[in-house]
Amino acid sequence: AAVAEEPITPPVQIEHTQLLINGQFVDSASGKTFPTYDPRTGEVIAQVAEGHAEDINRAVSAARKAFDEGPWPKMTAYERSRILLRCADLVEKHSDEIAALETWNNGKPYEQAATAELPMLVRLFHYYAGWADKIHGLTCPADGPYHVQTLHEPIGVAGQIIPWNFPLLMFAWKVGPALACGNTIVLKTAEQTPLTALYVAKLFHEAGLPPGVLNIVSGFGPTAGAALASHMDVDKTRHDKQCFPLRHKIQDLIDDKIIGKQAVVPPNMPNVTSNSLPNHGVINFLYEEEEISNPGALIGPPETVVICIAGDPCRSTIAMADLVPNSSPRRATRTPRPIGTIHPLGAIYCPEMPRSNSQVAVTFPVVLAFTGSTDTGKIVLELAAKSNLKPVTLELGGKSPFIICEDADIDNAVELAHFALFFNQGQCCCAGSRTFVHERIYDEFLEKAKARAMKRVVGDPFKKGVEQGPQIDSEQFEKVLRYIRSGIESNATLECGGGRLGSKGFYIQPTVFSNVQDDMLIAQDEIFGPVQSILKFNDIGDVIKRANTTRYGLAAGVFTSNVDTANTISRALKAGTVWVNCFDVFDAAIPFGGYKMSGIGREKGIYSLNNYLQVKAVVTPLKNP
Ligand code: ADP
Repeated sequence: AAVAEEPITPPVQIEHTQLLINGQFVDSASGKTFPTYDPRTGEVIAQVAEGHAEDINRAVSAARKAFDEGPWPKMTAYERSRILLRCADLVEKHSDEIAALETWNNGKPYEQAATAELPMLVRLFHYYAGWADKIHGLTCPADGPYHVQTLHEPIGVAGQIIPWNFPLLMFAWKVGPALACGNTIVLKTAEQTPLTALYVAKLFHEAGLPPGVLNIVSGFGPTAGAALASHMDVDKTRHDKQCFPLRHKIQDLIDDKIIGKQAVVPPNMPNVTSNSLPNHGVINFLYEEEEISNPGALIGPPETVVICIAGDPCRSTIAMADLVPNSSPRRATRTPRPIGTIHPLGAIYCPEMPRSNSQVAVTFPVVLAFTGSTDTGKIVLELAAKSNLKPVTLELGGKSPFIICEDADIDNAVELAHFALFFNQGQCCCAGSRTFVHERIYDEFLEKAKARAMKRVVGDPFKKGVEQGPQIDSEQFEKVLRYIRSGIESNATLECGGGRLGSKGFYIQPTVFSNVQDDMLIAQDEIFGPVQSILKFNDIGDVIKRANTTRYGLAAGVFTSNVDTANTISRALKAGTVWVNCFDVFDAAIPFGGYKMSGIGREKGIYSLNNYLQVKAVVTPLKNP
């Protein structure tokens, strides 16, 4: 169908565009905003607060406080479960508005959002509410007179970074298990789709989620996302793209009254700057020689606490001493005492720094969950490793094979292969994007697959019966069109589609390529669009090898009426999910995640709980065994 000229007015208002920190909607520290768009037209629909490192810090502090002092981890598991159930119920009550907002910001068909995704969201929270009070440790046998038990504890503050293709489902996959286990959260939404998470998180607070437990920061990857991934010390880190002039760091410390009372920045403080090096590299501090070599250098006016900088440029020491009042030349009452180091990534690491006149426990963000592209996943993992080694789960890209054997029910396979690829505008990490068809049924399959794609209803996602809306944004739209050109140039046969649909927004014609070869770019890269690639095979052993010849391993589909063939193929495939005679069957209890470069760890189901739990072994000698 053609794209409607005038977009249908969405049946919802945009209410929340600020950051949600500590239960309050607030502007970003910088006051900056960024536009968010309607993919049907490319027009701006709202300005949204743009979070940066400063905001991540605020959010992490709130989450940390809610974890350390707040009621969340201290509640009984049953109380947490009850709150999660109420959250789910409130979402269910507002499903229609939420689905409309999701469609408006993402472009996915409203029917899909309302009848499949929202119920799934509700189901996921019901599921995790059910887990909250069923998490417990074990008693373990030991070779000796010991009583050994394990405690399964929440880890602490979870950083979560989600993509734009399923904004709400990704929110639920991340937030559900983390909350069920008693953690607190800072979640960064994708810059393309900031709206629905804010709406849902607001409802969660209405349902009784305590402030600080779930904080939402909208913003971009290299700023807000990277700040979360590289967060070193939840209470103290200051980042600005991993490089921040030291002067600002110290100013921040002073602002926070972490160092001294009413301290001011010493006017004669060394001229400290930072060089922005690539790869989140070392910060070079430029200041005078003696001050580098002399840890006792006094660099503050009287009555201020002295901050001394010393050591090698990548691991400068921060030290602190009190000044003798009015001394000239200035003298310290005691030798400056090192209180921390400046981490190469720009984090200030001060294990001993006083907070509220008492000792500070250094509290790291303890776990990070990311869903997005493989390239970004690598960056996130690196940032996590270079900062504080927070464990990371990654759910990344895919190039999933969909194997149709000669004995498959062809009509069913055609329909499901179509669904596997075109669902959600082709914007699924697990999309069945390599359709392998046995040579004996290849021609028939191809004709039917092509006919099905040509029948696909593309149009305004608010219109009833529409199967496919626009791609998310101009960048993805252009990228998909480039892949289509690459398919044509590499001599795959363009069976249908191949271009833009309409003149407005980011609609693409359902496109089918046949005669696709393994070494073509369209058979290797994740296209993330409505482009089906059909490949021919003639031998099971061979197709298994070809299916596995990819850097990805997220999912796969197998179509056959022979249970032995199904078993042989599904056991041989290197993929986190194998759907046999079905595809894209998601369920709260079914784990999801990738082999190889499709990721690390599993989400959903019982498996996801491990991502958010710490296991403590408690060993006690038995006096009278
Ligand atoms: P896509 O290419 O599909 O947009 P990305 O992996 O770039 O996927 O984005 C997924 C999520 O990762 C988004 O929330 C995005 O803002 C975030 N992101 C992008 N770059 C970075 C980065 N350098 N560090 C942390 N998060 C990032």
